[in-house]
Amino acid sequence: MNLHDLFAIPLRRTPTKIALHFVDDAGQETTLTYAQLHEAADRLAAGLHAWGLRKGDRVAFFIGNRPEFVIAYLAVIRLGAIMTPVNLRYRRLELSHILTDAAPRLLVTERQHLHLFDELLPDDRASLEATLLAEELAQWQAEPGATPIPVVQADDLALIMYTSGTTGRSKGAMLSHNNVMATMTALLAAWAWEPADRLLLCLPLFHTHGLVVGLHCALAAGATVLLRPGFDCGAAIRELTSGAVTLFFAVPTIYVSLVEELGKLPRQDFGAMRLFCSGSAPLAAETMMTFAGLTGHTILERYGMTETGMNLSNPYIGARTPGSVGAPLPGVSMRIVNDRGEETPPGEMGELLVRGANVCLGYWQAPEKTAANFSHDAMGRQWFHTGDIARQDPETGYVTLLGRRHELIISGGFNIYPREIEEMLVTFPGVAEAAVIGKPHPKWGETPAAYLVCAASIDESALLAYCRTQLASFKVPSEIHIVDSLPRNAMGKLQKHLLR
Ligand code: AMP
Repeated sequence: MNLHDLFAIPLRRTPTKIALHFVDDAGQETTLTYAQLHEAADRLAAGLHAWGLRKGDRVAFFIGNRPEFVIAYLAVIRLGAIMTPVNLRYRRLELSHILTDAAPRLLVTERQHLHLFDELLPDDRASLEATLLAEELAQWQAEPGATPIPVVQADDLALIMYTSGTTGRSKGAMLSHNNVMATMTALLAAWAWEPADRLLLCLPLFHTHGLVVGLHCALAAGATVLLRPGFDCGAAIRELTSGAVTLFFAVPTIYVSLVEELGKLPRQDFGAMRLFCSGSAPLAAETMMTFAGLTGHTILERYGMTETGMNLSNPYIGARTPGSVGAPLPGVSMRIVNDRGEETPPGEMGELLVRGANVCLGYWQAPEKTAANFSHDAMGRQWFHTGDIARQDPETGYVTLLGRRHELIISGGFNIYPREIEEMLVTFPGVAEAAVIGKPHPKWGETPAAYLVCAASIDESALLAYCRTQLASFKVPSEIHIVDSLPRNAMGKLQKHLLR
């Protein structure tokens, strides 16, 4: 079975049901039934096949939330090609790395982003043979009649999703159809998805949260996705209280905004809502409690990552514990180990390891990174090292996450690895050394703060302008501190905790 086979079930059962409802920034609505969505995807698959797209080819997606994203994605995986979604805020360094690493033959994007690709060095975009603009999608469609659809097996890749790498370079997590289906089927059961569900989806489809948790589950459940270009607090509150929505998935930053806004409004009625979920970054217990007071709903917090899809979740039925990410989802096993890789006694903290069909097959063209992130136990079973430090309550089995092993900063649900920013900062004339740490931020959770040792005087505003051309805006340091030296230990290793 592959993803298309799962999506075909609601298509056959309820072809006239609305699969996707989209409203663009100008208020223009698009509605697609299951039959219309899959027909559009089949027609695009035919056109892409005629162009020459084949099983195993990579297709980079640099496109905002819109129906064409979904249609193109379904078409690409139907042909056994591999979708590589790219964070829309990525700029030159990130784009050239992903394009040269994944070597996609085709780029799916929007006209407004074309200049970013034109500005890359020819070598960086050498693999690209064509660009499919969302605005011109219809020109790519063809009659599906005679298109040979290849056999796509569960182990074939559906996605290569780039994560921020600890080495400063992002790694492409290889997710097979089976990996994605494992997360979907676990969540469909654990969160009691129903065809009657209507999911308000404001999260970006280029990230696992919006794509794997949101879009995939909804389309497999035969539910309706109310897809929006992004999160707009006022609009979200209107929709969540309109009676038209039953499910809402968000990152903690969004819940912080909702709490802030709801606090100013008369009490709103969230009676039609079935479930609010949070993930991608730690949800403050205070946010969860205040939200419950304002809405009558206890947010369900879950934990996952690009490489693994979803791992742990608070229960749909039963106590949802503030500050905890719950217990393993169906099909997921976990262990907590110390620095020597030995299982810790119950209740003690250590690195969280997971295994299950949800865990990716490894990193694209990086066997050494794959080897570094997986280990085998005495029974030969393979475990994925999440890099997250966790503790499991010996009585309830619920897990609390305590921090990140590799200094990951999470800002508004987006991952930032300091080293990537540090390596960029020292390319600015006058900057000799750089260290970046996360600083707590009431809205974004964390933002990066930079500590610089300078060999010459630098213009801070010119440095920030430079940063904005090199990296996504959420990685641009929110604070810059010029220091005489960075704290290092006897081995010369940076002691970042001393910067805090
Ligand atoms: P990503 O690959 O962008 O989904 O990021 C994965 C990382 O986000 C995990 O390794 C965790 O560090 C963090 N994360 C995800 N969900 C949670 C959560 N509920 N609480 C705390 N951290 C989380």
